[in-house]
Amino acid sequence: MSAKVLILEDERDIREMLAFCMEQAGYEVEQAATAERVFGLLKDGFQPDLFLVDWMLPGASGIEFTKKLKKDPINQNCPVIMLTARGEEDDRVQGLEAGADDYVVKPFSPRELLARVQAVLRRTGAINKSSEQLQHGDISIDTAGHRVTIGGQEVHLGPTEYKILHFFMSNIGRVYSRSQLLDSVWGQQVVVEERTVDVHIRRLRKALAPYQVESYVQTVRGSGYRFSSK
Ligand code: CA
Repeated sequence: MSAKVLILEDERDIREMLAFCMEQAGYEVEQAATAERVFGLLKDGFQPDLFLVDWMLPGASGIEFTKKLKKDPINQNCPVIMLTARGEEDDRVQGLEAGADDYVVKPFSPRELLARVQAVLRRTGAINKSSEQLQHGDISIDTAGHRVTIGGQEVHLGPTEYKILHFFMSNIGRVYSRSQLLDSVWGQQVVVEERTVDVHIRRLRKALAPYQVESYVQTVRGSGYRFSSK
């Protein structure tokens, strides 16, 4: 079955170009010009595997949309790629902090966009393929069910935070630099700034904090990060 992509973009020409490009690549596509329409589609049962969201929308911005989506219990773990004309680093970090998993700066080539889409889907979809139970301290991951539990309680993480935790839980106690984490978690084909790692590490710690296990994610000054309960 092909992956489903939901495109949220108010400008019709761009939206149709995006839809065409995704359909050509074999994805199933739904389009929406407004955030309201997206939530309507979700309510009607459309379950996307990925959202492509334009930053500049009339009414609620792509950022506001993404924040709202991340509160939706059914779709909060669905990855979001933000389309933005704004190349400023602070803007991009703001997008990531709102919950976006990646961003593409306009103007972009269809090839570049497809590479990003595939990378995000690979990193979120690849997770379900192998089945194993990872355990460290109070944290367990059931990789088949993509479930994280801490002290028996299920914890919901964003797709990138899950992937980072999965990577850490498979490599306990080892120190990884930001660029090693980028290669391992994001993949070598994807060009992402090292600061992106910090944004997602911060989100992971925040998700772990209510269970008092955020200290497992350790900053190693001058080197990077390590994961350990000790
Ligand atoms: Ca727009």
